[in-house]
Amino acid sequence: MNWNKATQQQKLKYQQASKIWLSKIPLFEELTSCDNPMCKSQQHIDMLEQFYNNIVEALKGAASEVLINSPKQKHNLPRWNKDVREKHKAARRAYLYWIDNHKPKSGPVFDIMKESKKEFKYALRACRKSQQKCKVDAMAEALWNRSPKKFWQNIRKSKKSWFPSTVGGETRSKVVIVMWRKHFSALLNSSKNCEIGNFVHQNIISRGNFEGIDELMCNSFKIKPLLHKLPLNRAAGKDGIFAEHIFYADSSVCNHPSSLFNVCFMHGKIPQECMQTVILPICKNKNGNYRPISLATIISKLFEHYILSCISPLLATTDNQFGFKPKHGTDIGIFLLKQTVSSYVCKDTPVLSAFLDASKAFDRTNHNLLFAAKLIKRSVPMCIVRLLLSWYRQQTMQLKWGTNYSSPFTVTNGVRQGGVLSPYLLAVYLDELSIQLGSARVGCTVGNMVVNHRMFADDICVFSPSISGLQSSEYLW
Ligand SMILES: [Zn+2]
Repeated sequence: MNWNKATQQQKLKYQQASKIWLSKIPLFEELTSCDNPMCKSQQHIDMLEQFYNNIVEALKGAASEVLINSPKQKHNLPRWNKDVREKHKAARRAYLYWIDNHKPKSGPVFDIMKESKKEFKYALRACRKSQQKCKVDAMAEALWNRSPKKFWQNIRKSKKSWFPSTVGGETRSKVVIVMWRKHFSALLNSSKNCEIGNFVHQNIISRGNFEGIDELMCNSFKIKPLLHKLPLNRAAGKDGIFAEHIFYADSSVCNHPSSLFNVCFMHGKIPQECMQTVILPICKNKNGNYRPISLATIISKLFEHYILSCISPLLATTDNQFGFKPKHGTDIGIFLLKQTVSSYVCKDTPVLSAFLDASKAFDRTNHNLLFAAKLIKRSVPMCIVRLLLSWYRQQTMQLKWGTNYSSPFTVTNGVRQGGVLSPYLLAVYLDELSIQLGSARVGCTVGNMVVNHRMFADDICVFSPSISGLQSSEYLW
C-alpha cells in the first residue's frame, strides 16, 4: 500500500468504499449503551476487542478494493531543479507533437523534437553534476513556495538512514532481533519497585470515584478536528493502518472511534491490538549509534490526541519548561538564556552553566510516581488515570528488524514509546524538579526573579554566577 502515490481519483474511490465498509460494522449496542464505569463483564471486553478489529478490517478492506498500486516512476524527481523540469516539459511537448505528426525523420518538427531533447539532457547532466547544489535549490524552492511538506520530505531523503548488515558482529537477523529484544526489554524493565503498586489500584478502582465521566464522552464532532493532527506519510502501526486510512475515509469514520473511546473510558480498557507498539532500531551513522523509533497504532494516537484535548490544562508546567507548549520552542528558551547571561556579562560577572542530560528519564520514568503522585495530584479525572494505568500495565512491545518481529514483551518503566501523550507526561514528571529549583534562592536573578534554569523537554540547563550556586542547583537534581 502506497498512499504517497495514490491519485486524487483513488482517494475519492477509497472514500466511497470506506462509507460502505464502515456502515457494515455491527453497532454493538449492548456494549456502547453500557454506562456502568465499574462494569466487569468479560463479554463486554471481548466485544470491545471485536469492535476494534472490525474498524481495522473495514478500513483495510476499503483500501484493498481501490488497489493503490505504485504508478510508473515519474521523471519529475524532487532533485530536479526548475530548469530541468521546464526543459523536460518542453521536450515532452515536442515529442508528443512529433508523434502526432506521424514521426517525421526530418524537417522542422523533427528538429524541434531533437533539439528540445538535447537541451533537456544537457540540463539534466548539469543538474546531476551539481547534485548537491540542486538538492539545496529544490529545498530553497520549497521554502520559497511555502511548501513545508516538500521541504521536510527533501530533508528526510538527504538524511536517509541505512540498514546495517551486521550488529555487534552478528549477521543473522533472527539472532540480531533477539539481541535487540534483550536490550530494550532490560532497559524498559530496569527500575526497581516500578510495578504499579496496590496504592494506585486501591485509590482508583476500589474508590470508584468516576465523577465527570459524562463530560469526557466523545462524539464525532470532537474527533473531526483531531484528524489533522495525525501524521501523514509515516509508517503504519502493527495493525497495518496508516493515518491516511482515516484521513481519506468517509466522514462517518469519526463515529466509530468516538464510540470505541467511550467504551474504553467506561470499561477502563484499551483493545489489546490497539496497544501494540513496534520498536525499530534505526542506525544513525556508521559508528553503530542507534536511535529507536516507536510505531504506535494510529487509532491509539487519535485516542491520545482526544485525551490530551480533555486534560491539557491539567498538564501545565512551569515557565522554565519550553517543550510541548504552543508558540514555545528551543529558540525562545535559548534567547532568554542568552539575555540572562548577557545581563551578567555586561556587569563583568561570568555565568557558569551546566547542561544536564536527562534523556534516559524517558525510558526510566517510574510509573508509580507518575500516576499516583503526579496525575492524581493534578486532578486528572479518575477514569483517564485508570485507563492510562491499564494501558501502561498491559501494553506490549515488539522489536522489528528487517522483516522479522520479536516476541512481545511487557514494560514496567518509562513513558509509553511512540505515544502522543508521552512527552507531556514526561514534562509533568520533571515539573516537580523545576518547581523546586525555581523556589531555591540560588543562581542568577533578573530583577526580583530567580532565573537559574531552562528546560526543553528532558534537556536541562542550570546556570549561576558562582560555582557554589551551580553546585547547589545541581545537587537539587
Ligand atoms: Zn460494560
